[in-house]
Amino acid sequence: MKKAILILYTGGTIGMAKTATGYQPTAGLLSKLMAEDRAFSHEDMPHYDIVEYTPLIDSSNMTLHHWNVLAKDIIKAYEDYDGFIILHGTDTMAYTACALSFMIDGLNKPVILTGAQVALTEAHSDARENLISALLLASRYCFPEVAILFNHYLLRGNRAHKIDAIGYNAFLSPNYPPLAEVGSELLAHTELFCATDAKALALHKYIPITLAHFRFFPGYSLDFLDTLLHHPLRALLLHTYGSGNVPTIDKKLFSLLEQAIARGVIIANCSQCLKGHVNMTSYATGQALQEIGVISAQDMTPEAATVKLQFLCSISNDSNWIRQQYGRSLRGELSY
Ligand code: ASP
Repeated sequence: MKKAILILYTGGTIGMAKTATGYQPTAGLLSKLMAEDRAFSHEDMPHYDIVEYTPLIDSSNMTLHHWNVLAKDIIKAYEDYDGFIILHGTDTMAYTACALSFMIDGLNKPVILTGAQVALTEAHSDARENLISALLLASRYCFPEVAILFNHYLLRGNRAHKIDAIGYNAFLSPNYPPLAEVGSELLAHTELFCATDAKALALHKYIPITLAHFRFFPGYSLDFLDTLLHHPLRALLLHTYGSGNVPTIDKKLFSLLEQAIARGVIIANCSQCLKGHVNMTSYATGQALQEIGVISAQDMTPEAATVKLQFLCSISNDSNWIRQQYGRSLRGELSY
């Protein structure tokens, strides 16, 4: 029997058309183009249904509300389909992939996000190949993962990072190998898939929290960080150098951070380097952060390090619990 895949279409370049004010999502266009293309009704392809959201959005407009709706719709249709494809703009695709990976317990069917750098209406579009690959992978492999399919590679969603604003190879998984490759054959590295999730199917929703980012650079302003920390923050993600280092010359930095942690702000350390991991014991410049209670994002991408804070702070007010969970792999988003 043919497998059945549900396509949830949120917007993005994939189904956009040229307008006087630039590319914009166009209602009904993508379904029409897919219905006209024989590849999508080929006997090797699964059956698919499309749910098109209104309005279709450029993914720069993605919100927590959209994440909650997407997860709710997957759970609602879970028993009726073998897998799910989310069509999404590339700009925030990695954030949405992280968000969905954390929020659904008991997910044992594939959820693949894909999109395109060039709209399906254009002759040199990458949309068709991405769509075909996503449909084939979602129907052939029953993996319990939220993944991103782009330019022939299936990546764990919460490990992916957008690296190219223009080129077809838009995503990289710096610290975890691709789950599958699409060439003349489909090659899945099944040993890399997450283990089956024995929990009952359940949804955890995101709620807005006040989360800030602070990126160090030579000449950064301690006064600005001080002002930021006096804002009512729930969490702060520090983007540090190398393996998690910050300048140690001005000790005021540590007293400001320590006071904020004492007020209940969760402060996490994420490296500006995409590859490798935070190790706050390597250098004195990192150790000083660990001593005052800054937690480590280890080898998470900036997207995963961010969304995991949003997720944990959405489901709990207990700072100690959040701090413990942040260092554990919830869905394969970190290696250690
Ligand atoms: N701005 C677009 C979006 O993220 C870019 C894309 O789809 O690739 O919706």
